[in-house]
Amino acid sequence: MNEFIVTPYSVVGKVNYDKLIKQFGLSLIDDRLIEELNFPHKLLLFKYFFAHRDLDKIIRVYKENGKFAIVSGRGASEHIHLAHVLLFKFVLELQRRFNAFLFVPISEDEKYFAKQGLSFNDARKYAIENLIDIIALGLDKKDTEVLIDTLTMNAKIYGLAAKLAKKITLSTIKAVYGFSNEQNIGLHFFPAIQAAHILYPTVEKDLPSLVVISVDQDPHMRIARDVAAKFSLFKPAALESRFLKGLTGEEKMSASEPYSAIYVNDTPELVKRKIWKAFTGGKPTVEEQRRYGGKPGICPVYEYHVLFFDTLEEAKKRNTRCRNGDLLCGDCKIELTERIIKFLKEHKAKREKAVDKIHEFVDIEEFQQ
Ligand code: SF4
Repeated sequence: MNEFIVTPYSVVGKVNYDKLIKQFGLSLIDDRLIEELNFPHKLLLFKYFFAHRDLDKIIRVYKENGKFAIVSGRGASEHIHLAHVLLFKFVLELQRRFNAFLFVPISEDEKYFAKQGLSFNDARKYAIENLIDIIALGLDKKDTEVLIDTLTMNAKIYGLAAKLAKKITLSTIKAVYGFSNEQNIGLHFFPAIQAAHILYPTVEKDLPSLVVISVDQDPHMRIARDVAAKFSLFKPAALESRFLKGLTGEEKMSASEPYSAIYVNDTPELVKRKIWKAFTGGKPTVEEQRRYGGKPGICPVYEYHVLFFDTLEEAKKRNTRCRNGDLLCGDCKIELTERIIKFLKEHKAKREKAVDKIHEFVDIEEFQQ
């Protein structure tokens, strides 16, 4: 029996990323590939984005034709948290660096099918809220398209999903996602919609897709690549991240454990409480910490400092100071709290301006709560 399970709908157990790479048939992103990509981003250098599918082919296409598409979306069912912020900031930098076409499909329908207790209208409401956050993070209208599945679905995407669906069998869906007969048919059909999102730039704009996701979304890639081959389309490539550690020490931030994640709408007080309660790699007493040092490798506080805020130099220093016992967890937590509260305050101000821009990206006049 597997010691862990990773699907778009649940992550169970302690994930062994080496085994997951083999299990999913992914390739590791090595230094040579980062050099070839010529995008020495911190999240690549720190192996937060650790795995890929056919990234080398995308690099080749870019060198030959100067253009590819990025697809990165959001399954909306709640406000976004810091792992989503990290992903979209990376996506927007990647788009700018390569002058890529960006497609952002928002799949509140998927979450509506998957989540007990999520109403249809709430799923739609979160789709809009999430889009406002993504705009606030810097989404640029130039060379970008956004789709909200149940609000702005168009004939091109649905038509493509219908064509693809005819070549995707129920047995494939069950094998890839582990669905049972008791699960609703929305979940069984959704992979055709998802494959249409992924292949839309290839079919409509003749651009190969590079899908930027966290690794739990990889089953969608398998369906999309499989069906692309059946239609003789360029198989979509992927850049996949590991999970951002949960503050409470879990493998992944989780909606069922509210203190494991920091959401963009958290108040400063709540941020303080969450970080103060966070798991660390530190020792139980100051004296022991000074004498033996901490373990930054297992510490979510360290991870947030390094992935969100520190420069490469600062990250190296923090690592050394932690291991030497020069840095204490209390000080480290206070510093992180201040950094996150500052970020969220600035994000909130950008968000207020982003509300006015939403109609530049989607036509949602008709949506009434
Ligand atoms: Fe984590 Fe900071 Fe404590 Fe080191 S000093 S274990 S990085 S909280």
